Amino acid sequence: MRIIEDSQVLEALSSAIQKITYHCDPRITEQIGRALEQDPDEYARDVYQAILQNHQISATDQIPLCQDTGSTVIFAELGNEVLICGNTLQEIADQAAAQAAQSCPLRASIVSDPLFKRINSTNNSPAILHIQQVRGDRLKLCVTQKGGGAENMSFLTMFTPATPLEDIRESIIQSIIDTGSRACPPLVIGIGIGGNFERCAVLAKRALLEELGRANPIAEYADLERDILQELNSRGCGAQGMGGILTAIAVHILQEPCHIASLPIAVNIQCHVHRHIEVEL
Ligand code: SF4
Repeated sequence: MRIIEDSQVLEALSSAIQKITYHCDPRITEQIGRALEQDPDEYARDVYQAILQNHQISATDQIPLCQDTGSTVIFAELGNEVLICGNTLQEIADQAAAQAAQSCPLRASIVSDPLFKRINSTNNSPAILHIQQVRGDRLKLCVTQKGGGAENMSFLTMFTPATPLEDIRESIIQSIIDTGSRACPPLVIGIGIGGNFERCAVLAKRALLEELGRANPIAEYADLERDILQELNSRGCGAQGMGGILTAIAVHILQEPCHIASLPIAVNIQCHVHRHIEVEL
């Protein structure tokens, strides 16, 4: 059994959150730079320039990429030969969110009670943690700081298995287009298909954190990813809803087996401030 001290995990998580607060996924910067060269739309080019300038200022002056510094979401793959000594992973994740909120500093973005009191927890805790036990002696942590605007535009539909694929595809595309500028495009789209009601939502969030632009290993799903991406970019919504060729940067699908009577599909939307990182201990 390999022992990892809780302090090691805390340090790794805190510095991961700090890093993504100031540094967007470089592949986002690359794609927006490419769109700036190719897009004939003048308003869209203004938006690309503003986003690229924001990336640069954020990295050089250590100013958060967005005033919405997000909620901390962590996917942990915990090897079955790993023992974390001291605090639980949830306690460590909460401490990391709080520590980063203070040291960056980050806007306090979490309310303790969601419906009635809505009092700010003041330190960005708790973090949202998903743990999957895997074989091995490693701990892998995929971390994201997820903005509220894009999260609010995400959706889940319980389709029936009899629904034609064309209807499903159109429903997903149109629902994303209908979000207009509210999710802060250009977007990254995570789609979870199958599992059940709650599982497909988790898959959709996890799909966002896949390497940007990677294709699903199964050809039909890879084709659907490509098709949805092309269609989103052909409908003219564009960066910040101002038109142009870049509404979405990537579409990732993750799928799992599901009940014979069900076809749950969740779409998790991420804004152009795609703050995510992977660390392994
Ligand atoms: S959705 Fe993203 S870009 Fe828009 S306000 Fe929230 S974090 Fe910022």
